[in-house]
Amino acid sequence: MPELSKRTNTFTDSVIRRMTRVSLQYDAVNLSQGFPDFEPPREILERLSQVTHEDFHQYSITWGAQNFREALAEKQSRLLGRKIDPNGEIVVTCGSTEAMMAAMMTVANPGDKVIVFSPFYENYGADTILSGADPIYVPLYPPKFNFNPDELEAAFKQKPKALILCNPSNPCGKVFTYDELKLIANFAERYDTFVITDEVYEHIVYEPHKHVYFSSLPGMWERTISCSSLSKTYSITGWRLGYIIAPAHVIDVAKKVHDFLTVGAAAPLQEAAVVGLKFDDTYYRWLQDKYTKKRDLFLKGLDDIGISHTVPEGAYYILLDISEFGFDSDLEFCEVLARDVGVGAVPGSSFFRENVNHLIRFHFAKKDETLYEALNRLQDLRKKIPVCNLKGR
Ligand code: GLN
Repeated sequence: MPELSKRTNTFTDSVIRRMTRVSLQYDAVNLSQGFPDFEPPREILERLSQVTHEDFHQYSITWGAQNFREALAEKQSRLLGRKIDPNGEIVVTCGSTEAMMAAMMTVANPGDKVIVFSPFYENYGADTILSGADPIYVPLYPPKFNFNPDELEAAFKQKPKALILCNPSNPCGKVFTYDELKLIANFAERYDTFVITDEVYEHIVYEPHKHVYFSSLPGMWERTISCSSLSKTYSITGWRLGYIIAPAHVIDVAKKVHDFLTVGAAAPLQEAAVVGLKFDDTYYRWLQDKYTKKRDLFLKGLDDIGISHTVPEGAYYILLDISEFGFDSDLEFCEVLARDVGVGAVPGSSFFRENVNHLIRFHFAKKDETLYEALNRLQDLRKKIPVCNLKGR
């Protein structure tokens, strides 16, 4: 038989998605892959049931249905403080996963370099490799996950084509401050680099932190390719609705990439989601309040159990320190946790470039009762995974 493509040789399947399968296998409370177990807004679901009887069953325009783009342009124009052109400056994609991949393929040629902060959401590594680019990793240092400006500048000096900015950040929960973003903007300008953002948690930010859209910084509209999605904002991760917003000459190329990758996002789902895009600010305040309460509930539970953890400023992930259990492999720890304690987590090593093996990631986008059930199971953590059980054997 001929050899298969070498494209994927340097990476495994997604560990995040694998941990969902492991959780299902052991009937564990799945706090690994980040998605809600509560319902999307009722208005969106009601519109979805109407849409099934309307004429939305064929392809939409490849770069997105007209009324979806118009509603999205209106919402994001308010947030970005500039008028977004629904016809020239938006491509609707199959989730932000496709948006990020299409953005990478839009800017990077094989051999180009791309800056990725570490820890990072695992897709970025695969995205850069699949588009033929080479990642340059720049560490974010706990507890605040700050970067060292000198290290960042050293990365920019290697003439990268783009920097990937996940803000609010998965998995570390960092919300980049205005000053940090300004510093990145100055480097992007000085070294003539694009910035590809992943802003899917734009509406999940905890007081007193504020989300600043990178493209809204002075001079940054021209060099920012903003990616986001409706998944987290409207609790519809399975609908796979994402988008790219960028200047028209960038979008012209992104449209071609997207057209040949997927043709388009699901037409009936775009139509049903329009009602969500038209929600007023009350909805986003409600969402923020809901997640703030979940964060506080879950962090308090972890504190009562006595596990040390990060405190997210945004997004819905927590990194927990599992050093006390003495495992060599955090992946093995997560397997044992799912099997013996009944809670699914993602091994921290899947997010770090550095050799990090003492962290696991939980998410808290779950009903309160699910979070209580997980905390309840975690009470017995030290009995079920005794410290003496070194190396997990
Ligand atoms: N962003 C979510 C996570 O990090 C889900 C990612 C996915 O599987 N598409 O868990």
